[in-house]
Amino acid sequence: MRDFEPIGIVSLGCPKNLVDSERLLGKLLQGRFHITFDIDEAQSVIINTCAFLGTAREEAENVITEFIKKKKEGEIKKIVVSGCYPSLSKEKLLKKFPEIDALTGTNDLEKITDAFTSRKRIFISNKFEHTSIPRFQVTLPHYEYLKIADGCNHNCAFCLIPKIKGKVHSFSMDFLIDEAKRLVDNGVKELILIAQDTTQYGVDLYGRNRLLDLLEKFENVKDLKWIRILYTYPSEINKALIDYIASSNKVVPYIDVPIQHINDKLLRRMRRTHGREETEKVIGMLKDKHIAIRTTVITGFPGETEREFEELKLFIKDVRFEHLGVFAFSQEEGTESYEMDMQVPEKVKIERKKEIEEIQSKINAEKLNNMVGKALPVIVDYYDEQLNGFVGRTQFDAPEIDDYVLIRGDVEEGKIYNAKITGSDSERLRAEALK
Ligand code: SF4
Repeated sequence: MRDFEPIGIVSLGCPKNLVDSERLLGKLLQGRFHITFDIDEAQSVIINTCAFLGTAREEAENVITEFIKKKKEGEIKKIVVSGCYPSLSKEKLLKKFPEIDALTGTNDLEKITDAFTSRKRIFISNKFEHTSIPRFQVTLPHYEYLKIADGCNHNCAFCLIPKIKGKVHSFSMDFLIDEAKRLVDNGVKELILIAQDTTQYGVDLYGRNRLLDLLEKFENVKDLKWIRILYTYPSEINKALIDYIASSNKVVPYIDVPIQHINDKLLRRMRRTHGREETEKVIGMLKDKHIAIRTTVITGFPGETEREFEELKLFIKDVRFEHLGVFAFSQEEGTESYEMDMQVPEKVKIERKKEIEEIQSKINAEKLNNMVGKALPVIVDYYDEQLNGFVGRTQFDAPEIDDYVLIRGDVEEGKIYNAKITGSDSERLRAEALK
C-alpha cells in the first residue's frame, strides 16, 4: 500500500453526485487503489462537491478546511476536490485553498487515479465523457440511483447547473439497461431514475424525449420490482407518460416535478417554460391517476409581491401535494436572477419559506392519517435500534427525502411486504406486515 492510501471519500450534494462518487470509488478499485469507508483511517480524501447554491459551496469549503487542518497535522497526505465546485470555479478554489493537491471536474471521473499519482493538479474538461466505470454501490443494497442523463437544456434564471454541467447529455439505452441488470443482479429491487431533468432523456442522443421507451425496456428487467422517477419538468410531462406510470407493474405511482412557483408573471421571470394553466393541467392529470406528487417551490424570487405569494400559498393548500420542498431564493452570481431588480429582503424570503413549511406539514400529517387502515406495499430499508423496529417506505416515499414506515412483524431488509397501516404521526406511518 502506498503512503497516501487508503483513500476515503466525502460525497456532498444530490444523488447525481452520489452516483459519480460510486464511479470514483469504482475507478480507484479498478486501478487497484486501496479505499476505506472509515474516514478516520483514510490517508487521503476525495471531497466530491456540490456548488449550485451558496450554502452548498459553503458546506464544501468547511469540509475542505477540515481536511486541510488534518493535512497540516500530518493525518492526511492528499486532498482531491471533485465535482461541481471545481467545474464551476477552479481558480477560486485553488486561490482560497492552495493546500489542495488536485481538482477533478464533473466530466473527469476517469482521471481520478491520475489525480493521486501524477504531478498535474487540474483535471477539468468541459467535454462530456461517456464513462462506463463500474460503480461501487454505497446505498442500501436493495435500492440504487440510476443517472440516465446529466446537464440541462433549460435556462432557469436562478440556476447555475447549465453553467456547471452544460447541455443535456444522455447515457445510451443499451448502457442503462446493462447497468440496471447489473444492479438488479447485485440485489437492487428499487431503481431511482435521476438526471437534472429526466423528462429530457434522449433529446441529445436520439433527437427526441425517449423516457417512455426507456421505461418500457426497464419493465422487462427481471427481478426489478420498483422504478421511481425523480427530477421531471412540468411542460415535458404528457398524457402518454402519465398513463404509462398509472398502468405499469413496476413504475411506482410517484413523481417528483418541481414547479418552483404558480404565478404566471413570476414563472416568466424565472424563465420557466410552463405557466399556471399548463402546470394545473399536468398536476390534475397526475392526481386523476392517483400518482403521488413531490414538488419544490421557491419563495422570495425577485419581484415576488405579497399577492403573488398568497397565490402560491392558496395553490399549495388547494392541491395538497404528498411531498413539498421549499427553498428561499438564493441570489447566485453567474445566474440571470443575480442582477435582477426588486430583490426581496432576506427576512421576508425566510418568513415566506416558514409559512409554506407550516402549511405543508399540516397537509402531510392529514395525508398520513388518511392512510390508516389501508393495506399498502412497503419495502423494508433497515432495522433501527433506537426505534426498536424496521424502517421502510411505501411506494409514495423516496429514500432519504420523504416519509417512512415503522413496520412490525417477521420482515427482512430489502424485501417488499403487503402491510396494514395501523397508525400515523406527523412524518411517519406505523404498519403491520400481513402474512
Ligand atoms: S430545469 Fe432544473 S437543472 Fe435545468 S436550469 Fe432549470 S432548475 Fe436548473
